Amino acid sequence: MPDAEGKLTKDEAATAFKWFADKSANKPCSMCGGQHWDMDDNLVRLDTWHPRLQNGPLCFPSVVLMCTTCGHMAFFSAVHMGIMTPPAGMFSGITAPEKEVSKPESAQSEPSRG
Ligand SMILES: [Zn+2]
Repeated sequence: MPDAEGKLTKDEAATAFKWFADKSANKPCSMCGGQHWDMDDNLVRLDTWHPRLQNGPLCFPSVVLMCTTCGHMAFFSAVHMGIMTPPAGMFSGITAPEKEVSKPESAQSEPSRG
């Protein structure tokens, strides 16, 4: 859990850097091809949208990377990284349907030999 100022602790920042390394997430910027990213020490709150509320009822606490060349930002779930526990109600929405995997013709239609 981030500190009282909402900043990542040293251990949490290390967890995030290790997560990026483990996931091979050190790719060039998709906008400019820049090779360097800065990670902010604040988590970012991505709110869900709601038509009658200033902020949505749910949020996704996120770690943000910013390309040092063009400023493009990439957001990663702090929950997924193990930095935060899921806020109440998080991920309670629609689950994407699994794609039906077509099965190859089975061997049972092959004629028996012998
Ligand atoms: Zn960039």
